Amino acid sequence: MLKALRGTKDILPEEVCLWQSIETSARNIFAIYGYKEIRTPIIEEASLFIRSIGDATDIVQKEMYVFYDRSRRAIALRPEATASVVRAYIEDSLSHKEGLCKLYYIGPMFRSERPQKGRQRQFHQLGVEAIGSGDSLLDVEVILLAVSLLKALGINDFSLQINSLGCEKDKLAMIEDYRKVLRPYLDSLCRECNTRYNKNILRVLDCKNPGCREIVKGIKFKDSLCPACSGHFESVKKGLNQLGIAYTVDRKIVRGLDYYTKTVFEITQKELGAKDAICAGGRYNNLVKDMGGKDTPAIGFAFGVERLALSLKGLGLEAFSQRIFIATPEKLLRSEERRVGKECRSRWSPYH
Ligand SMILES: [Zn+2]
Ligand SMILES: [Zn+2]
Repeated sequence: MLKALRGTKDILPEEVCLWQSIETSARNIFAIYGYKEIRTPIIEEASLFIRSIGDATDIVQKEMYVFYDRSRRAIALRPEATASVVRAYIEDSLSHKEGLCKLYYIGPMFRSERPQKGRQRQFHQLGVEAIGSGDSLLDVEVILLAVSLLKALGINDFSLQINSLGCEKDKLAMIEDYRKVLRPYLDSLCRECNTRYNKNILRVLDCKNPGCREIVKGIKFKDSLCPACSGHFESVKKGLNQLGIAYTVDRKIVRGLDYYTKTVFEITQKELGAKDAICAGGRYNNLVKDMGGKDTPAIGFAFGVERLALSLKGLGLEAFSQRIFIATPEKLLRSEERRVGKECRSRWSPYH
């Protein structure tokens, strides 16, 4: 018998209802906040992701699906959407059409990971990218949007963790500090973390190995933000306080990808555990410039749709399809039944 590939799944009709309600809520809220949908291709040149996400990341090194087409070009199935959206922003000159460009996307992404709860090789994300402003108010608005979406879906038992990676200079200082602090633990860290130590030390903080997690948990890292970045982070916190959005500052949230700068955040939910964020995002102020565009600050986030569906199921909040039953007395003509059915469909649905 032929089976679906490992790490891929059929989303069957009874579950599709739940997915549709998640997507509809997301579309409605994104529209209220002024975001417009963009649909980028599922395949892109592999170099797009290598350049933006970083060639020393797990995504690029181990998880990205890459194949060679007939003209021997390296093509990747997109492992995430930010790089594609930024590519489209530059290529399609979206900056000329609108000042602050607010975009959202919904669709499948691909990473060759070990499949487990809420983690598939073809998985789905919905997210936003706001490109064109470095204002801390935008950070607050983007975080508010993520929180509003969860609340609209009926998910309230989540927690928000925020951090700031600072500008490029701060990030370098932070890396230096991590090198110093982690050096005595090198023998106890896993083999991969030993490689990460040299190539990409921030990733040690993302390691899933329990031994490494325990070590990282016990370490205190220095705050290395410059006055401007520190001021920006303070304004973000102040904005969140004013809106009554609860958060904790977690210096160990660094996000795994190279392009993040300044504000980064993660939202976790009880049902999924602390290890798997339901939403993750942050600023990427240098990415547009690094990819050949103008110097344009930006921020975004992505939700895992499988994880949202799992949370909703855990809360017993499942969507159901609407049905109308037409009961007719035995003697009534079947044609009359059909007429009523047709009438109902024409009133309640555009498809009849
Ligand atoms: Zn700075
Ligand atoms: Zn490790």
